[in-house]
Amino acid sequence: MLQTSANLYLPPMRIALFGDIHANLEALEAVLDDAAKQEVTDYVCMGDIVGYNADPAACLERVRAMECPTVKGNHDDDASGNHSLDNMNPVAAAALEWTRRQLGDEQRQWLRRLRMVRQVSDFTVVHSTLDQPAHWNYVTNRFDAMSNFSYQFTRICFHGHTHVPRVYVKSDRVQEVPAESLVIEDSAKYFINVGSVGQPRDGDWRSCYAIYDIEKKQIVFRRVEYDIAETQRKILAAGLPEMLAERILEGR
Ligand code: ZN
Repeated sequence: MLQTSANLYLPPMRIALFGDIHANLEALEAVLDDAAKQEVTDYVCMGDIVGYNADPAACLERVRAMECPTVKGNHDDDASGNHSLDNMNPVAAAALEWTRRQLGDEQRQWLRRLRMVRQVSDFTVVHSTLDQPAHWNYVTNRFDAMSNFSYQFTRICFHGHTHVPRVYVKSDRVQEVPAESLVIEDSAKYFINVGSVGQPRDGDWRSCYAIYDIEKKQIVFRRVEYDIAETQRKILAAGLPEMLAERILEGR
C-alpha cells in the first residue's frame, strides 16, 4: 500500500550542535554517543574540525560521513590552504603545519569548500560572527554580540570559536545570561556559543555541546567525559607541542 505523508511518523526534531572538535577523536566519539542516548534526530557542526590535536583525518572523515550541515572554522581554513602561518601563535601554527601533512588533497578540498554561514531549519550557524564571518572575530562580551545581532535575521544563531559556552539575548537590549538550559521566547533573539568538543576553555575539561529541541523550544548544554589520557598520549606520540596535551586537561 502506498504511504501518504499523513501516516509517516516524523519524530520531533532534536538537533545536536557541536563544534571546535579540533582533531580530538575520543571527545568527538563521546559526544556523538551522548547525543544518540539523548535521542537527537539531526546534527549540525560549527566548524574547526581540525587543528591542535592528533586525529585530524579521522575526525574529518567521521563528520563528513554524517553528511550534516557544517560551517568552516578558521583552523579548517588554515589547514586546507597553503598560505603562511607566520602571524599565528607558534603553538597553533606548529599544529597546523603538522595537520596539513596529515590530510590528503581531497580532504583539504572538502574543508576548503565548507560554507561560512548556513541557515538550517529556523536558525543560522556560523563559526565566529555573522557581521564579518571571514574575519574570525571573538565574541567575549555583549558589545561584540551587538554587532552580530545587526546581521542576524533568524531568532537563533549558533556559533563557536572562543571555546566558551555563552548565551546572548537581545530583547530591548542585549544581555548575557548563564549558559544553562533555556527556553526560547518569541519576543527575543539569541546568539549562542555551543562551547567546544575537543578543547574547552572555560576551566572544565569535559566536552561541551548543545541540543536544540525545536518542538519544546528548549536548548540544553551537555558536558561529556571522554578518555582524555588517550588523547594526551596521541598528542605526545605525534610530536605535537606538549602544551596542547596539558591545556585540554586544564580546560583552557
Ligand atoms: Zn576553535
